[in-house]
Amino acid sequence: MNRFAHKLTEQSIALRRGRPEILQVNVGKLCNLTCAHCHVNAGPKRKEIMTRETVDRIIDWLAKTELPTVDLTGGAPEMIPDFRYFIERVKELQPSRHVIDRCNLTILIEDGYHDLPRFLAGKQVEIIASMPCYSSENVNAQRGEGVFEGSIAALQLLNSLGYGIDPMLPLHLVYNPVGEFLPSPQRELEADYKRELQKHFGIVFNRLYTIANLPIGRFAAYLRHHNRLDEYMQLLVESFNPATIEGLMCRNTISVGWRGEVYDCDFNQQLGMQWNNPDRSEMFLWEVDPHSVENREIMTGDHCFGCTAGAGSTCGGAIV
Ligand code: SF4
Ligand code: SF4
Repeated sequence: MNRFAHKLTEQSIALRRGRPEILQVNVGKLCNLTCAHCHVNAGPKRKEIMTRETVDRIIDWLAKTELPTVDLTGGAPEMIPDFRYFIERVKELQPSRHVIDRCNLTILIEDGYHDLPRFLAGKQVEIIASMPCYSSENVNAQRGEGVFEGSIAALQLLNSLGYGIDPMLPLHLVYNPVGEFLPSPQRELEADYKRELQKHFGIVFNRLYTIANLPIGRFAAYLRHHNRLDEYMQLLVESFNPATIEGLMCRNTISVGWRGEVYDCDFNQQLGMQWNNPDRSEMFLWEVDPHSVENREIMTGDHCFGCTAGAGSTCGGAIV
């Protein structure tokens, strides 16, 4: 039994799925950036991307459900050849579904992507964009030289299309700490971001989501290299907050990988903690009976302490 499962047992907490509401699809590991904290180990040389055949199989499955939200992530999801095709097909479904693009911002100003923001606005795709700080120094340190300036230009472009202003075009930012500490209170940080981005760059946005760094992928390698992994794990374990359990994203989200395989969340996906069929073969989304998901047991590991520390952490920010 891992330490997290042990903690749940100790506190008589059963972690099981509720009704699925979000299909989060990780379309691949290809990205234009190579951020220091990346839990996906994404980068420009990664070859793992979703094929059209897999996109079609996911859409066919989705059509048989009423899951209201499709959340596209990566890598930089915009870089797969069928990104627009995916969104167009989701939008054609009845009932219509809400689509989220988890965007690193800089991709929107790369050559070959200049008409993408207009496409996203036309399809009313919600944008959740990574922005680890409102100061250039911190962003460039974590994400690479010039990323801050590119992100600012992309945010200004999105504002000019109505993002963050028109209620049909939500624009949310994501903060994650630049080191091995927990995020500051979300509401206070959001006020700081709003003030600073407005004052210096005339940028507006809707919500700021604070997300903790989970000790996996490139961030775990960084901590290990600096001999700080145990210390960070200790901080997460000591900050366990049972009030976060109800709001964990693994309770309402189904996570799908670039081959169509299924997991409880994107973190479990990066750790290869895949759902299995009764014969122990790997399970793909098109093999999942949507009615059998509710009440399913969630696969956990020590990394789960990253989601339950302090105010908690999900793809939609703090939990409590
Ligand atoms: S953190 Fe996001 S933007 Fe950075 S390398 Fe990973 S997937 Fe790309
Ligand atoms: S990492 Fe977080 S979201 Fe994933 S299973 Fe663990 S607690 Fe749930």
